[in-house]
Amino acid sequence: MAEFCLDCYNRLNNTNLKKRDVKLSVDVCERCGQVKPTIDYIVRTDKIKPPCRSTGVSRS
Ligand SMILES: [Zn+2]
Repeated sequence: MAEFCLDCYNRLNNTNLKKRDVKLSVDVCERCGQVKPTIDYIVRTDKIKPPCRSTGVSRS
């Protein structure tokens, strides 16, 4: 699995996860290439909207 820091993950997935929403471990981010706390896994999966759900979702 690719390791991304919070900034890159949020940018790639159009999410707004915070540190408390994820399990972090220091690793090389595969997008920005810096050694940063990267996402091991997401704790608050309810914060991620399933892409297949189209009703009521407004894209800006
Ligand atoms: Zn990054």
